[in-house]
Amino acid sequence: MAFFDRLGESLTSAGKEMTQKAKEVSEITKLKLDIKAKEDYVQGQYALLGMNYYAKHKDEESCEEAEQFFLIREALGEIDRMEAEVLRLQGAAECPSCGAHMPLGAAYCSSCGARMSEPAGEDTVVETVAAEVVDVTDAEETTDAASPAVETGKEGTEE
Ligand SMILES: [Zn+2]
Repeated sequence: MAFFDRLGESLTSAGKEMTQKAKEVSEITKLKLDIKAKEDYVQGQYALLGMNYYAKHKDEESCEEAEQFFLIREALGEIDRMEAEVLRLQGAAECPSCGAHMPLGAAYCSSCGARMSEPAGEDTVVETVAAEVVDVTDAEETTDAASPAVETGKEGTEE
């Protein structure tokens, strides 16, 4: 009978070992999930830090990160263009002022009253207004190049 007692004992201890192993495994799994969650949190904080830094220093030309700023600005511009393209394909346009979606070709935003940037298909729009729109959209360093172009346009119409 002693043999069976011993056998029983060893089986029980093997069972205990198994539960211990299972506990460890589940503990490891839980810890790994916690680590992943914390890593995601840190990544989010890094991203937030970078966004704040970008917003604060993006206009500094002599900045060490100028090239990275340029790449970010370029990518953001591409996103804007692609989003506008999606809207255009959907037959809509985004108000430059409040961001509301208007039907393509609408002259004014029905939400805030702002002029829509691209009055597509509107031939009745006065030319002076079109010149203003160009000024707003090309808000880079093209101010010198814009004025002679207007003058040559005038000379052309006089003849
Ligand atoms: Zn609007």
